[in-house]
Amino acid sequence: MTNTYQNYIDGKWVPSHTGDVFTSTNPANIDEVVGYFQKSDGEDARAAIESAARAFPQWSKTPAPVRGEFLFALIHLLEQRKEELAETITREVGKTLREARGEVNKTITSMKQLTGEATRLTGQTVPSFDERVVGYTVRDPIGVFAIIAPWNFPLGIGLWKIVPAIIAGNTVVFKPASNTSLISVKLMELLIESGVPAGVVNMVTGPGAVIGDELANNPIIKGISFTGSSEVGLSLGKAVGSRGGKIQAEMGGKNPAIILGDADIDLAIDCIVTSGFFDNGQRCTGTSRVLVVPEVADQVKSKLIERAKSMKVGDGFDPESHNGPVVDEHQLNLYLHYVQKGIEEGATLACGGQRLTDGTLGNGYFVAPTVFTGVTQEMTIAREEIFGPVIAVIDVESFEHAMEVANQVEFGLSSTIFTNDLRKAFDFVKGIQSGVTHVNMPSTHFESQYPFGGKKISGLGPREQGESALDFYVETKTVYIRP
Ligand code: NAP
Repeated sequence: MTNTYQNYIDGKWVPSHTGDVFTSTNPANIDEVVGYFQKSDGEDARAAIESAARAFPQWSKTPAPVRGEFLFALIHLLEQRKEELAETITREVGKTLREARGEVNKTITSMKQLTGEATRLTGQTVPSFDERVVGYTVRDPIGVFAIIAPWNFPLGIGLWKIVPAIIAGNTVVFKPASNTSLISVKLMELLIESGVPAGVVNMVTGPGAVIGDELANNPIIKGISFTGSSEVGLSLGKAVGSRGGKIQAEMGGKNPAIILGDADIDLAIDCIVTSGFFDNGQRCTGTSRVLVVPEVADQVKSKLIERAKSMKVGDGFDPESHNGPVVDEHQLNLYLHYVQKGIEEGATLACGGQRLTDGTLGNGYFVAPTVFTGVTQEMTIAREEIFGPVIAVIDVESFEHAMEVANQVEFGLSSTIFTNDLRKAFDFVKGIQSGVTHVNMPSTHFESQYPFGGKKISGLGPREQGESALDFYVETKTVYIRP
């Protein structure tokens, strides 16, 4: 029996007033239904917003250290249900169980990072010119926030947005990606069981454009924290900004890996395979462009192609699989569209480039890891985000040329360089236009104690994670007291 799951509003599981549901399926076997979910609309979103607004006065008055206490129970529950959560991610998103366990572990680390954050919600005391005046600042909660999450890290991204928002004293309407509704229901169960009071976090499932429209335009929503495509993030930023609301948007990337002549090539290939192919390249920080200088170009290309061809694609539950399926038909079609574009515009398809449908694979969205060589900067596959396992190798003449090409895209999320020349490494770090950067590491490397976010059209608003995790969710009040 496949379950039907409900919205969570005002401390209760409730159906949508539309009476409609939608289906989430397993991308490794699209005949397998994971669950049925409420196809909510603006009216359901309004009910969730009003619930969050009712909960705000009491929650925002609750002392911050008390607000933060649920996190200890949350971490315990995440630990206890680790395997079940990882299996749900694999079943709903298709990523391998190894990657899914990695997501749950990273989520736990990120939640541990946030424990005690409520007790560190400090202000400043600053000396006044007037000896009778005491001046200080406090960081106030703001009101109701909307959290809009993507499907590629459905547990991690959902929680690392919701948790800072509520420990800062705000209340939330959570709109998960439709593809990952089941893991989002489980995320809600974890928060409820951790003791988060009714109304503080509400969840509505359903089509992003419909619910998003209400979240962007309803004046009760004081800000939106969004992760997803640049197209949606920028339009939400416009809508919320035009009515004085706040936006934090983590968006797409076209992340370069530069390989210089003195690099450790095997290390570089390992890192590029991990960050460009694993998870089918469906990571915002995934390497999608390899910029290589002439001295090592042949070696890099042949090793990368060899590794791409040797990757085993199959069900994410099979321990032999390096990659599962891409998440849905839309991502499959994007992959095929960009492969076609690459060929039409004159790049060389060195390997991959097709849907995999051989008998051992189920009826799923399996695709081959793909390498294009002979790519030039003008080509679409060198400029647009594909969000699939496609690496474009671009020949560059020198370090300086690599820097120029690396920065010639609209995106600015992550980047990496492979070199043993310390001076070049520092020049790279200084000149590269990305919010996160690396030297001799995968572009996807991420630790939650550091701030995370992009430049250019990859990011809007304050950073997530690290010391700045709560910044988006508070407003500073400056206080002068003359007793
Ligand atoms: P998406 O289409 O922008 O969707 C992201 C979320 O926004 C989903 O919950 C979606 O709901 C919702 N949504 C869709 N249209 C909306 C609208 N008009 N108004 C409000 N919400 C709307 O992105 P995606 O395809 O799921 O995710 C892939 C993208 O996310 C890539 O570009 C990737 O780079 C980016 N990403 C960025 C980061 C980062 O931290 N920088 C991390 C992960 C992913 P539905 O699912 O119902 O459509």
